[in-house]
Amino acid sequence: MSIAENLRATRERITAAAARAGRPGDAVTLVAVSKTFPAEAVREAFEAGGQTVFGENKVQEGIDKVPVLPDSLEWHLIGHLQSNKIRKALPLFGWIETVDSLKRAEQIDRVAGELALRPKILLQVNIGDDDAKFGYAPEQVRADLAPILALPHLDVRGLMTIPPIEESPEATRRHFAALRELRDQLAAETGAALPELSMGMSGDFEIAVEEGATLVRVGSSIFGARG
Ligand SMILES: *Cc1c(COP(=O)(O)O)cnc(C)c1O
Repeated sequence: MSIAENLRATRERITAAAARAGRPGDAVTLVAVSKTFPAEAVREAFEAGGQTVFGENKVQEGIDKVPVLPDSLEWHLIGHLQSNKIRKALPLFGWIETVDSLKRAEQIDRVAGELALRPKILLQVNIGDDDAKFGYAPEQVRADLAPILALPHLDVRGLMTIPPIEESPEATRRHFAALRELRDQLAAETGAALPELSMGMSGDFEIAVEEGATLVRVGSSIFGARG
């Protein structure tokens, strides 16, 4: 199957999952995760598949790919952002999905102000309390949200999670539901809309869509297995 065919099949699965949940298909944005794949694969996804939104987990891959590809593409950073990479990341990535401390949010805000940028950000939540992962504990995101919302150079759009690996995609459903419930509580407490929920990958994006995902991050189902 070609990248374009994989994109078409993935979009059909998203639309069907959204319909099962009574949601319009266009409520979900497919973020095509191109990490480890070359710029040419991204170009094929864009030209043959009409895909415009891409995700990378390393700033260095953004440095390599973003400048050689059309300006019209939208890039999401979906991996941890170290403080010494912020200045390089912000001109490349319009979205930073992985903010997981007030300190890092303040650093991004300061650099964004210097560069006259206002990145869209998501707060990454460690919803399954998985030791191995980055991300906020749910109680800490509650404590930090108000000061982050007050930072002038950040456009806070919602929450992101990478749930713990479960034995079946269906077992992951409760983590997706928990992220949605946390978002609903935070929105009610702060009055911020927090419209975006980034959750779901190749193995479980349909369940994430059923539970309210607005951004799904799909790599291997589109580009193939990573080496
Ligand atoms: C690699 C990655 C994905 C995509 O994973 P696939 O299983 O290939 O779809 C999604 N989210 C994050 C944070 C990733 O690092």
